[in-house]
Amino acid sequence: MGMPEQPLTHVPEFDPEDEYRPEPEPELLPPTWMDGSLRIGIHASIAGSYLNALESARKLGCNALQIFSASPRMWQAGSARIPDADAAAFRARRAELGLGPLVIHANYLINLAAAQPMLRTRSIQAFHDELVRGVALGADFLVVHPGSRGEATPEQAVATVIESVKQGSKRISLGNLRILIENTAGMGAAVGARLEELAEILAGLRNVPAEACIDTAHLFAAGYDIKSETGLTSTIDLIEGTIGLERVPVIHANDSKIPLGGRVDRHENIGEGKIGAEAFARILTHPRLGASAPQGLTGRAFVLETPIDQPGDDRRNVAKLWELAGLREQAPPAEKGFSMLTAAIKKIQTRTAKAEKAAARKTKVAIKAKASDGKPKKARKIKRG
Ligand SMILES: [Zn+2]
Ligand SMILES: [Zn+2]
Repeated sequence: MGMPEQPLTHVPEFDPEDEYRPEPEPELLPPTWMDGSLRIGIHASIAGSYLNALESARKLGCNALQIFSASPRMWQAGSARIPDADAAAFRARRAELGLGPLVIHANYLINLAAAQPMLRTRSIQAFHDELVRGVALGADFLVVHPGSRGEATPEQAVATVIESVKQGSKRISLGNLRILIENTAGMGAAVGARLEELAEILAGLRNVPAEACIDTAHLFAAGYDIKSETGLTSTIDLIEGTIGLERVPVIHANDSKIPLGGRVDRHENIGEGKIGAEAFARILTHPRLGASAPQGLTGRAFVLETPIDQPGDDRRNVAKLWELAGLREQAPPAEKGFSMLTAAIKKIQTRTAKAEKAAARKTKVAIKAKASDGKPKKARKIKRG
C-alpha cells in the first residue's frame, strides 16, 4: 500500500480465552444455503432472545437474515460473550430452519478509522468482541462500517481502518466467519463512500478474510446512479474493476429517501424511494448480481434494512423483493399478518416518542427562560398539541 502503519498507542487487551479455543471443525460440505438459490433476508430483532430473530425471519418469508449480536448503540458493559447454551440453541434452530447466510451487523459506535486513541482502542475491542460473538453464533458474515475519519486525510483513514481490522481480528479463530466492510453514503467524514476507497481497504487486508457488503441506498446517496439502466451497468463494472463482484456476498437492499448524490443515509421501503421498483427489479434479476454461477456468486444474499413504520412493512418489503426478483412462486411462505412491529409495540413507541418530544420542548423553554434574564424562572406552561 505504501502507507505508513498507524502505531497503536493503547494496545487493546483481549480475553486470553479466545486465543486458546480449539479451532471449529472445518465444514466438509458447503453450507446448505449455498445451493445456488437466491437468498433474501431482513434485519431481524433479537429482542427477548436470539431465537426470536430466527422465528421472525421465517415468519416474514425470508431464507436469510441479519441481526445485531448485542445492543447496536451502546458499548458493552461487562461480558461481551454469549452463554454457550444460548449460542448452541441458536445454531441448532438456525440449521433446522435452513436460514442462511446469517449476517451480523456490528455496533454503530465502532469507528475503525478513529484517530482519537481512546475511541480507537474501544472500537478495536468492540470489533473483536463482535467477531467472538459471531463465531459463537455460527455467523457467516460480520458487516462493519469503515468509520469516520475526522480531521485525518482519506489516505490516513484507510490506513487506520486496515490496521484496526488487523488488530481486532488478531488471535481469534474465525472459522467460516468473514468480515464485510460496507460502503457508506458519505455523510460528513464517513470513510468508504467511494468504491475505490473500499477496494483500498480490502487490498490492505490480504491476510484477513475480508470482503465487501454493498448497500444500494448508500451507493445511490454517494452518487452512483443505480436507478438508470446504464448507471447500474457502469456501477457494476466499477464494482468489478475495484472490489471484484466475487467479493460481494451480501447486498443491503434498501431504497433511499435521499436523492442521487445527497450523501445522507436514510433508508426507504423498496419501491417507495428515489431508487424505485423498476430499478430494484433490474438489480434483483441482474445475472452478475445473482446467486448462481457462472455469472453470479453462489449464495449471494439481499438483506433488507428498511424502516418499519407500520405493522407489516417488514413483511411487505420481503414480499416485494421476491416479487421483483421474479421468484414469487419459489419464495418461502410468510405467516399471514406477522410483523416484528405489532400494534402494541407501535402504541408504546408512539407514546415514548411523544413524551420525548414534550420533554425536549420543556427543556428548550426552560433554557430560554433562564437565558432571557439570567435568573432561573419557572418554565412556562407548554401548550400541548
Ligand atoms: Zn446497510
Ligand atoms: Zn444505511
